[in-house]
Amino acid sequence: MTLFKNAQHVILEAGIKAGIPHEVIEILQTPENCIHAELDIELDSGESIRVDAYRSQHNSLLGPYKGGIRMSEYVTPDEVKALALWMMIKTAVVDLPYGGGKGGVHIDPKKLSEREVEKVARAYARALAPYIGEDRDIPAPDVNTNSAIIDIMCDEYEKVTGRRGYATFTGKSLGNHGLRGRTEATGLGGFYALLKLHDHFLQEKNSREITVAVQGMGNVGYYFTRFALDRGYRVVALSDSKGAIYDPQGIVLDDLMQCKKERGSLEGCGKSIPNEELLELDVDILVPSAIEDVITTDNAAKIKARYILELANGPISGGADDILHKRGVVVIPDILANAGGVLGSYLEWKQNKEGVVYEEMDNYAFIKDRIDTSFEEMIHTQKELLVSYRLAAYVHALRRLERAYTKKSIDR
Ligand code: GLU
Repeated sequence: MTLFKNAQHVILEAGIKAGIPHEVIEILQTPENCIHAELDIELDSGESIRVDAYRSQHNSLLGPYKGGIRMSEYVTPDEVKALALWMMIKTAVVDLPYGGGKGGVHIDPKKLSEREVEKVARAYARALAPYIGEDRDIPAPDVNTNSAIIDIMCDEYEKVTGRRGYATFTGKSLGNHGLRGRTEATGLGGFYALLKLHDHFLQEKNSREITVAVQGMGNVGYYFTRFALDRGYRVVALSDSKGAIYDPQGIVLDDLMQCKKERGSLEGCGKSIPNEELLELDVDILVPSAIEDVITTDNAAKIKARYILELANGPISGGADDILHKRGVVVIPDILANAGGVLGSYLEWKQNKEGVVYEEMDNYAFIKDRIDTSFEEMIHTQKELLVSYRLAAYVHALRRLERAYTKKSIDR
């Protein structure tokens, strides 16, 4: 099953559990609008390439489309559509006035110069300009994009539309109307989810006794690890795309980051293990923080962690999810565990619209409050229906979406 088909299937499964009418399920399964653009980019060498770029605007029942833009050689229309659907659920889980969207550019930015990446960002913003806006569709960073790239897109959007652009993009730099705390918001939200997981499932242990393995050292994995270590959790393994490090005594993050900076990757920065082995370590909590489909039917039976906190979007394939659920592994799903990013985005958008600047402490408190509340709602729904925690979070989100649908039908 493709990623998108699987995502649609989960909507169906949860929709039936939630008692949602079939016509509403179908609406929630179907993208409202899919944009495909071909970007012509001139490389530093003078050669021109054509790059496929996408934006899926999945659903706008709760508000404007919202979701990041990624750049990667793995981007496909199917992947973008799945990610946009998940954004619809994610914003509903944490009760934000947003729909779901996602963008992707099919290119590996690590193989480009800074100037070439800037050209891609500008071309993408130009192609998307007619379809986005502060009350229509609000992009943000995602895999391989960051505040510098978002600033460039925002600038290009302003140039081509002649409109003020900064409430149309979130995840901007602080000097460009960004939010205090947005950079670390996804990792921070994941950390608050870790605290709830600890409270609900591992009360008998203190943080030092809880072992954690983090797969992926991008923005999300890095900040999550930092917050977890500061609170005393024993992070014993870390990895990036090239190497994995394992130290049963607990890793020292600053040393590893310094080494990664010098060598360009974690490879050889400590006691190395193969990347696949990290996922199979005997730890309490496994935290996949990189990309989709790293836990599949091939390795699901070998996972020893009792708890999985999904900080990446879609790291567990559909088949693997069933295997883990049957084995009693508790999965705290992406749509809740990594919602800190979009919660930060919401505050950024709101402060931009209001023309004010919020305090970092208040931003942290807002993210904590929404993660805590949604976690409790998920636990409550799980007890009510005795389904997996993922399905429980979906049911909660779908009920919210159905209410919006019914209200819209009555208003019409
Ligand atoms: N890319 C992030 C996500 O997948 C953030 C999206 C946003 O802030 O709009 O949740």
